[in-house]
Amino acid sequence: MTRTLVVGAGSAGCVLAARLSADPGHEVLVLEAGPVWPTAAQIPAALLDPGHLPLGPESAVVWRYPGNLVRGKLIGGSGAINGSYFIRPPATDLAAWSAVAHSARWSYDTIARYFRELEHDLDFGTEPGHGDHGPIPVRRVADPAPFSTEFAERCVAAGFAEIPDLNATAEPMRAYGRASAPPADDAAGARGHARLSPDRASSGARSRGHAPVGFGRVPLAMSNGQRRGPALTHLYPALSRPNLTVTGATTVTRVLVRGTRAIGVEWSRGRERGTAYADRVVLCAGAIESAALLIRSGIGPERQLRSLGLRVVRPAPVGRWCTDHPEIGLEFPGQPPARPTAALEYVLELDDLELRPYTPAFTPGLCRLGVALMRPESSGELTLTSADPAVAPRIDQGYLSAADDRERLRAGVEIAAELFGLRPGSVDDAWLRGHLGTSQHLSGTCRMGPANDERAVVDEGARVHGIDDLMVVDLSIVPVPLSRGPQVTVVTLAAAIADLLAM
Ligand SMILES: Cc1cc2nc3c(=O)[nH]c(=O)nc-3n(C[C@H](O)[C@H](O)[C@H](O)COP(=O)(O)OP(=O)(O)OC[C@H]3O[C@@H](n4cnc5c(N)ncnc54)[C@H](O)[C@@H]3O)c2cc1C
Repeated sequence: MTRTLVVGAGSAGCVLAARLSADPGHEVLVLEAGPVWPTAAQIPAALLDPGHLPLGPESAVVWRYPGNLVRGKLIGGSGAINGSYFIRPPATDLAAWSAVAHSARWSYDTIARYFRELEHDLDFGTEPGHGDHGPIPVRRVADPAPFSTEFAERCVAAGFAEIPDLNATAEPMRAYGRASAPPADDAAGARGHARLSPDRASSGARSRGHAPVGFGRVPLAMSNGQRRGPALTHLYPALSRPNLTVTGATTVTRVLVRGTRAIGVEWSRGRERGTAYADRVVLCAGAIESAALLIRSGIGPERQLRSLGLRVVRPAPVGRWCTDHPEIGLEFPGQPPARPTAALEYVLELDDLELRPYTPAFTPGLCRLGVALMRPESSGELTLTSADPAVAPRIDQGYLSAADDRERLRAGVEIAAELFGLRPGSVDDAWLRGHLGTSQHLSGTCRMGPANDERAVVDEGARVHGIDDLMVVDLSIVPVPLSRGPQVTVVTLAAAIADLLAM
């Protein structure tokens, strides 16, 4: 019997724990900092409404960080409070990941089976490349909100192709619609073009071999009007297994390392303190807290560890690199629906730009169109300023430090403005910075890569370099910016690693 201790019952932790405990030869203990309701039926209904993100100041189920960063703090993690958007990464993201990791394990050919296996696509499940037996129900809204419909109509009027299935990644270059004849003089594509032009946007995408350009209904992880995060699809159905224990309200404060081997963790629960031992420790605490935990455990940049008064267990570039999707929110008068079905029902994909017509009112009486840069060149850094677990890490997103990022985001804002006939004024660098927000997709703080990669923290199998029996399995190990929201990627990653551990 192998005893695995999983830290965090978030998106990755739920999938990993459920798949691993399917084998009675594995005993799995999950420690989660947030609430764990004994049964799925006891989860408050408001947390299951996919049209509402429980992030307000009164919310007791989020971690909060400077810069408006939040993360889910409950069984299901961020996947239990997110927008339910469930779009697969294009094959080119996986090729880039494989190249950085020096491993075919993360190539599209290896990974695509998990896309099929994990989903039950209620619209396209029987189509090639899809699944109709998986635990995660996926569907697109049938009756979009007025703002979503207006967005789609404006995309059509502007000449953008409609992509019926945004998850049709089996042949990623297929869905170009009418934007099929790029002008010969255009090599830059979506980058740097202020003028609204689907031909230009798509030709750039195609010339670099990336995902299709066009708009479509968002595949959503929901069914019967409820958000179906990984706690509901994976962990709750497994909870009755005798070899799986999930304990809530328990915060892991440190990984215990003897010599070069992880042997367990220290935890706190209110005033109570304790230790738990295992054959293997897997951090699934998310891109912020997994990195913070490693550093607090003495695995991190040496100078930082010394300045915090921490013993150096293993020098490692934890937190040295991270990426996110910077996002501009354009707001203008309009009436968002009182009860939207989902927070985001349509998107327009322009290679590495994503335009998002949100249905909830972020500001009363205003509609919001998000413009996100999906593959930024700029990267950020996470550092600890205190060894005290109660002190949040410092996260410098490094947004828009690369001039090319500013140009591309500026082009996206101008395309969005033209789509809705808005006049944002001069979109200079100061304007961009003044309107900048986050998509809440931070990743890469414990980057994957070979041991000789000076930015790598874990190897291609998610094992921390230099420390035996310690792994990180969550969004923190993804070593490249993702062209789409990360939820499909993180559950896929967890499923693939669970299979690796089960072998
Ligand atoms: C508000 C919001 C909306 C989003 N919307 C979308 C979307 O619509 N589509 C999309 O693709 N992506 C979306 N994302 C991103 C996506 O949800 C996350 O990237 C993904 O869930 C990350 O999974 P994870 O397993 O890495 O971390 P998480 O799901 O955040 O899980 C980490 C878990 O670890 C627990 N934990 C942390 N530290 C400790 C500790 N020390 N001890 C014990 N437990 C601990 C946490 O409480 C949490 O449950 C959104 C994110 C947010 C925050």
